[in-house]
Amino acid sequence: MIKKVFKNILFLEIVDGLSLTFKHMFVRAVTEQYPRKKRVLPDTYRGILSLQKYDDGTERCVGCALCEAACPSMAITVVSGEDEKFPQRRFSREYYIDITRCVFCGFCVDACPVDALAMTKVYEFSSYDKNDLLLNKKSLLSLGDTIAKGGGMTPVERKYKFPMEGETNKIESKKEEALILC
Ligand code: SF4
Ligand code: SF4
Repeated sequence: MIKKVFKNILFLEIVDGLSLTFKHMFVRAVTEQYPRKKRVLPDTYRGILSLQKYDDGTERCVGCALCEAACPSMAITVVSGEDEKFPQRRFSREYYIDITRCVFCGFCVDACPVDALAMTKVYEFSSYDKNDLLLNKKSLLSLGDTIAKGGGMTPVERKYKFPMEGETNKIESKKEEALILC
C-alpha cells in the first residue's frame, strides 16, 4: 500500500512510460511506409498470374487445359483451338482466369507442360468492379509482356517470372517442341 502511494506521488508510471518511448527513439522503425515504399518481396512470392511468350513473340500456351484441370478453385477456363495452317498445332483460342476465385496455390503453374503460366510479384490489382478481376487472354499476356520488358522490376524479380529455375525462355528441347506441336 505504502509502495503504491509512493509510486503515485513520484509519478513513477509516467517515468516508466517515457523511458520506454525514449528507448524506442534509437531503435530502427519496423513500420512499412506503404505505398511510398514497397517491401522487397521474396522470390517465392505468389502474385497475380500471367501468360508467357517465347522470345520471338510466339505464345507458349498450347491450349491443353491441364491448368484448368489442376485448378482446385475452378478459376481457369480454356477454350482450345486448332491452327488452320498446322492442323496438329493447338493453341488457346480463349483463356480466362477469375482472380476472385484464385487462391494463389500455383498448381496451374506446376501443371503447365510448356511453362506458359507464371506467377508474378504483382499484388496491386484491387478493384471496385469485380468484372475487372476476370482476366482474359489479352490481359494475361499483357501482364506477361510488362514483366518481360522489366516493368520497373529488379533483375531478380524479372527472372522470377519464369516458374522454372534457370529457364531461358526458348524452345530448349525436342520434347518441349513436340508438346507445342501436339
Ligand atoms: S493459382 Fe491455384 S487457384 Fe489460382 S488459378 Fe492457379 S491453380 Fe487455380
Ligand atoms: S496448361 Fe499451360 S499450355 Fe495448357 S492450357 Fe494451361 S497455360 Fe496453356
